[in-house]
Amino acid sequence: MSPKPFYLTTPIYYVNSVPHLGTAYTTIAADALARYRRMTGDDVFFLTGLDEHGQKVAQAADEHGMSPQEWCDSIAPRFLETWELLDISNDDFIRTTQERHKRGVQAFWTKLHDEGYLYKGAYEGWYCVPDETFHAEDQLVDGKCPGCGRDVEFIREENWFFKLSEFAQPLLEFYATREAEGRPFIRPETRRNEVVSFVEGGLKDLSISRTTFSWGVPLPFADNHVTYVWIDALLNYITAVGYGSDDPADAARFERYWPAQVHFVGKDIIRFHCVIWPAMLMAAGLPLPDSVFAHGFLLTKGEKMSKSKGNAVSPAELAARFGVDAYRYYFLRDVQFGADGSISMEAMVQRINGDLANDWGNLCSRLFNMVGKYFDGRVPDANGAGEEEADAAVRAVADSLPARYEAAMTAFDYAGALEATWDLIKATNRYIEESAPWNLAKSDETRARLAAVLYTALEAVRVAALFCAPVMPRTSAEVWRRMSLGDIGAVTDIEAAAKWGQLPSDNPVEKGDPLFPRIDKDAE
Ligand SMILES: [Zn+2]
Repeated sequence: MSPKPFYLTTPIYYVNSVPHLGTAYTTIAADALARYRRMTGDDVFFLTGLDEHGQKVAQAADEHGMSPQEWCDSIAPRFLETWELLDISNDDFIRTTQERHKRGVQAFWTKLHDEGYLYKGAYEGWYCVPDETFHAEDQLVDGKCPGCGRDVEFIREENWFFKLSEFAQPLLEFYATREAEGRPFIRPETRRNEVVSFVEGGLKDLSISRTTFSWGVPLPFADNHVTYVWIDALLNYITAVGYGSDDPADAARFERYWPAQVHFVGKDIIRFHCVIWPAMLMAAGLPLPDSVFAHGFLLTKGEKMSKSKGNAVSPAELAARFGVDAYRYYFLRDVQFGADGSISMEAMVQRINGDLANDWGNLCSRLFNMVGKYFDGRVPDANGAGEEEADAAVRAVADSLPARYEAAMTAFDYAGALEATWDLIKATNRYIEESAPWNLAKSDETRARLAAVLYTALEAVRVAALFCAPVMPRTSAEVWRRMSLGDIGAVTDIEAAAKWGQLPSDNPVEKGDPLFPRIDKDAE
């Protein structure tokens, strides 16, 4: 069977910000899914990138005495470095100033222009430059932007409009059809209701061009018009996989990967992704993505994190302090993906010391230690003793893990996937406690039983490492290395790899340093 394509995306991040915990959160979640899907054998294409156009970028560049392109080029490495630091395994990194993107955007609007979905009209409204968003007079709050509270500018200009209003009914039918098919387009459900009632209220045509500045993709059929930055940005999802290119290889790539399985977004940009984006695709006659998943905000002490509130820590700082895997684990385990989640240093330290140092790290180190002590650092042969009830119980938890994990990941429930994995880790810890290998080691008569117990626990660790790998790739690779197993990153059939009993007897096992050093609570 040829591998199934699986295309997933993060939003492209705006170059006027540097990577922060919020963008890292979305990207880590997407990465864990990409890694898991590769381990199930899918042909994954994982895209992230940068949104480099718009008035705000032009202004920021100006303030820094740079051209807009120079400004973008100076910010892009900060994202690339952060993603590398966090072990993000993206297959591509699109920048909207790239030729492939501009070409695709132009092809797209030419198509919609030819199909009669665009018209020229006058636009008046209040514009919030930092948000790159228009607001009607009655939407303003005390004359300020209703979104961010900052000053707005009055803008009146001739724009090109997309007949978005024609798509309200087709969109409602589309949402309902997907619902009926059991594969909802908008996830989670709370977001779905919000979008549906918004569309039910009717849609206004959408201004898609600007003439007051030039830092954008020019509309090919209208002089002095550049594409509105938000619309330009959405198109990255198709231009990155080859849309708009004449090269047959690009066309084949587009054919293979589009439509995407999932767009991960923050809940603040859901209308762009669940209303405007599918309407644009419908107008162009292109297939629609499988789903858009909106995650919540990260809150510290009940407030949305932001630089201005001074409660922002950089991803690099956290990774340096706690380790990359621990960082990735904490955010995916402690915050239910899809809901707002409170994060705190205290909770992070607790997760690291509890789940990682005590449960997982300690299981590996005490077990590897005993193998060193009782079996010269080699996996014992378990065939001398029959399987006892306690062994079968651990095996049963391991056997049920692939299906539970798959179900959770299909629902984008990272916490659930990790919980299922931890059921195996905890069961193995209890098993060791109850089997007390240190007592079995006291007599030659119980040597066969000692071998069986250590083998069972080692096999459980081998399986647990597989399912930790999407979220914590480094430590899982290290656990497999210490057990002289192959490259965990090369696994392409996780279910087959997880089948019980594959750990070769006599494999050298290395004790190594603690996988997750305990964090001193008071020092934090
Ligand atoms: Zn604003």
